[in-house]
Amino acid sequence: MKFSILTLFPEMFEPIRSSILGRAEGKNLIEIELINIRDFSKNKHKKVDDTPYGGGAGMLIRPDVVYDAYSSLKNKGKVIYMSPQGKTLTQAKVKELAKEKELVILCGHYEGIDQRVIDEIVDEEISIGDYVLTGGEIPAMVLIDSVSRYVDGVLSNESVKEESFSEGLLEYPQYTRPEMFLNKKVPEVLLTRTS
Ligand code: SAM
Repeated sequence: MKFSILTLFPEMFEPIRSSILGRAEGKNLIEIELINIRDFSKNKHKKVDDTPYGGGAGMLIRPDVVYDAYSSLKNKGKVIYMSPQGKTLTQAKVKELAKEKELVILCGHYEGIDQRVIDEIVDEEISIGDYVLTGGEIPAMVLIDSVSRYVDGVLSNESVKEESFSEGLLEYPQYTRPEMFLNKKVPEVLLTRTS
């Protein structure tokens, strides 16, 4: 599964390159391509944003730089814009997206992105919850992490099946050693079964 990320802050994606996803990338089970939108600015100061027509607070990312960054992609999968105005991400949506071979993830920043390029290139808007973050980078990492878990070979099939939401239910409480911790004992029924 390939994720192509259009972002102004590619360095923010370093954390997902460790642990399970880092190993998955090392084994070529997933690929994370980072495209810096700023590289497509034609402005001599590499400016990518401007004030909104009609007024209002903050700056908007220009449509032309986003479009040029998108056009530079060799293969263009389904395009997702991380946005608080999108549909809230659910496990069912995660499973559906995991069937794609390639996803392009567009990350906004500042006040957001000029609507015209969103209308032109975006297939779907996804929110990670009813709150506002400073940028789409953390939401994009949430999407990549949750979708990657369903990519064959990233986790064992058992792990994916047993987690909360996978069968519409939440996971049960779990315990490990020591058997006694702060005067709390592991439930007796579990002590007869060892793995
Ligand atoms: N002006 C926008 C609004 O009021 O809906 C908020 C823009 S937000 C400060 C900047 C960027 O962060 C957005 O373009 C989006 O990419 C991302 N973002 C913020 N909150 C998000 C959320 N809950 N889910 C997904 N993306 C989010």
